[in-house]
Amino acid sequence: MEYEGIVIRPPSEARSLILQATFGCSHNRCTFCPTYKGRRFQIKDEEQLFAEIDETAALRPWRRVFLADGDALIIPQARLLRILDRLRASIRGLERVGIYGNAKAVMKKSVDELRELRDRGLGIIYFGLESGDDATLEFICKGKTSAEMIAAGRRVKEAGIELSITVLLGIAGERGPEHAIATGRVLTAIDPDYVGALTVMVVPNTPLWDLREKGDWSLPDEFAMLAELAVILAHTEMSRGLFMSNHASNYVPLRVEMPGQKEAALARLRKIIDSRDRGALKPEWLRAL
Ligand code: SF4
Repeated sequence: MEYEGIVIRPPSEARSLILQATFGCSHNRCTFCPTYKGRRFQIKDEEQLFAEIDETAALRPWRRVFLADGDALIIPQARLLRILDRLRASIRGLERVGIYGNAKAVMKKSVDELRELRDRGLGIIYFGLESGDDATLEFICKGKTSAEMIAAGRRVKEAGIELSITVLLGIAGERGPEHAIATGRVLTAIDPDYVGALTVMVVPNTPLWDLREKGDWSLPDEFAMLAELAVILAHTEMSRGLFMSNHASNYVPLRVEMPGQKEAALARLRKIIDSRDRGALKPEWLRAL
């Protein structure tokens, strides 16, 4: 099987079979995201994908499959059902299929359609919220408001599919405090199974890079971004699940079982923020996207 372009997947799918069901991202407008810039969105030819499923299924006993690229959930329902059926028919012992889905892709599907996908093996949707602050969502061209993000996240939960949400530290620039409070509130309203905080890394050839070069946006310092993390966590109420900052881009890795370990994690973060001890942070050269 050959992959086209850069193929990304969530850290938790590191041991999964990664199948490229689409190329690129149908939105492709987020100002910070370098992944698919300059690429046209396309859904992979079905027969080619089925041939790849059959070929890779024979390699080893896969338990999990991740359907890439950027928002493969945008694949029309009937076609996505056929893909899930083929996966279950070809891969014995398949336990879970995961997929990236943005709010637009989720809202194109009804709760019943999402349940249909769940019943055919779709177990988890990875959803990029980035911020719960409407001004920040507009600034980064996310294409949805916080109310629409909440509606989409709740729809996934109502369908009984696990939901993993990413949020971005630093993306709001000087609006960091507002971004952090609003993001915690949106996460609370959705009550996802997993939250993953990532720290912005400004990459050339993105609109965000150009804004920074022109002096129209600046990245907060490391401790201000850790303060955002603390405020987001403090304002996030989850009934269960994990709140994590263990992505390679972060300065301090956290893995917080919610709600029980929240206060201890906050105390640890506040100690680092108050001390401004750079020795407690991951060194720059170890950070990565
Ligand atoms: S929706 Fe995701 S993949 Fe698409 S441009 Fe935005 S961040 Fe990148």
